[in-house]
Amino acid sequence: MIDEQQINKIVESVISEMNIDASGKPKRKQIGVFETMEEAIAACNKAYTVFRHYNKEQRENIINQIRKLTHEEAEIMAKLAVEDTEMGNVYHKTLKHHLVADKTLGTSDLETRALSGDRGLTLVEMAPYGIIGAITPSTNPSCTVICNSICMLAGGNGVLFNPHPHAKRISAYAVDLVNRAVLAAGGPENIVATVANPTMESSNKMVNDPSVRMLVATGGPGVVKMLLSSGKKAIGAGAGNPPVVVDDTADIKKAAKDIIDGCSFDNNLPCIAEKECFVVRGVADELITNMQKNGAYLLNSRQTELLIDAVMVDIPPKNPSDSPKKAINKKCVGRDAKVLLSKIGIEVGDDIRCIICETEFSHPFVQTELMMPILAIVRVNDFDEAVEMAVKAEHGNRHSAHLHSKNVDHMTQYARAICTTIFVKNAPSYAGIGFNAEGWTTFTIAGPTGEGITSPRSFTRQRRCVLSDALNIV
Ligand code: NAD
Repeated sequence: MIDEQQINKIVESVISEMNIDASGKPKRKQIGVFETMEEAIAACNKAYTVFRHYNKEQRENIINQIRKLTHEEAEIMAKLAVEDTEMGNVYHKTLKHHLVADKTLGTSDLETRALSGDRGLTLVEMAPYGIIGAITPSTNPSCTVICNSICMLAGGNGVLFNPHPHAKRISAYAVDLVNRAVLAAGGPENIVATVANPTMESSNKMVNDPSVRMLVATGGPGVVKMLLSSGKKAIGAGAGNPPVVVDDTADIKKAAKDIIDGCSFDNNLPCIAEKECFVVRGVADELITNMQKNGAYLLNSRQTELLIDAVMVDIPPKNPSDSPKKAINKKCVGRDAKVLLSKIGIEVGDDIRCIICETEFSHPFVQTELMMPILAIVRVNDFDEAVEMAVKAEHGNRHSAHLHSKNVDHMTQYARAICTTIFVKNAPSYAGIGFNAEGWTTFTIAGPTGEGITSPRSFTRQRRCVLSDALNIV
């Protein structure tokens, strides 16, 4: 008898041999992956002439195939993503792919409004934009490509991707997977297309092509600003620096575990992950002790200063009289806590998944979006001070914030003050994207442009159809 595990292994190795060789290179021409952006645009436009006539049932069949293949190849993509980007954690990335497959909304998200009255019937329908140009990050590369594809195809659009150059192999793999799913459901080849070697030039070509009617940026401030100044309809999903606050009513043991679970998930790559912690003085020691029991390594102040030099770099000031600014050392983003600790001569086992340190509010680990499993903890005198600091540390990104508390007034006060798109109470940050929590998922959280937790309807335009003096049947 072959057990389920063995079957899974065989399936995995067959799929893997079909698609990539041992070095992760594609073994055959990937579908939807082109040498130039011009070719990708032409192919996507050609596919769209067919796809634009697809009804919701046909689109949903395609989406079901994408969900199926994403589940089947989740682990392969997780491994390839870590290899390609040298960031993150294979197990967590596998979970992220399953989350995308299960909880990204499909065509059920599209709703028609019907208004009937004395003068007839008016319909407002959610219609496709046409071809959407999407820029995707290195932090969640294939998850973003697949999640965007499901949502955008559900909305009836074609999609061009210009992925992050440091995640080009895994992003191409995801585009190929989506196309394989489309073909399996009888849809047109290349309705999702990309380039093998994305560059700023290919990005500019995509952004400026007249057939591209909508732009979506998932990434840092540079790319969001660039797309929002393009003159086209654009959705911007930008950077965050999510603070987590702990007050003295919280279940401290649970808070400690939840915070380390969230902060260390995929080595802190998710933009929603806890990036700094403000804890009320009376419960700070208990919180830190419980974090240590849950895989956190506590640095002393000298080790903390050493770690700054290891994981950050000095940016020379524009004005020579100013002091240099600190920025992240990109080589340290998404690395294991163990690897980061070894840079300052501390050797630990695999059980250590997060680094914690006590700092002042002004410390660069509080102020900077590190995207590393490092959590700076600041003791505060009371809840008001925690909220004040959290709001400042979030830098007006209006992205994500988290709280551990049983005090409903505190929940309300913090939520009103920080105005973030996502606000999670009493759970790890990933509850905000539906992981072990209610609600759909997305990997494009559009704070700056206000679509929030994007879903198919975010990628549609409203069209009104008016019938005068008829079909109002009452
Ligand atoms: P990044 O900003 O470095 O890159 C994103 C993409 O934009 C890449 O494809 C990159 O090549 C391209 N790009 C960057 N600047 C550009 C410009 N001026 N013109 C054209 N293209 C440009 O992002 P990253 O390092 O891969 O991802 C991390 C950042 O993205 C973090 O700040 C994180 O918070 C944010 N992020 C946000 C969300 C969200 O949903 N809000 C999701 C994931 C990541």
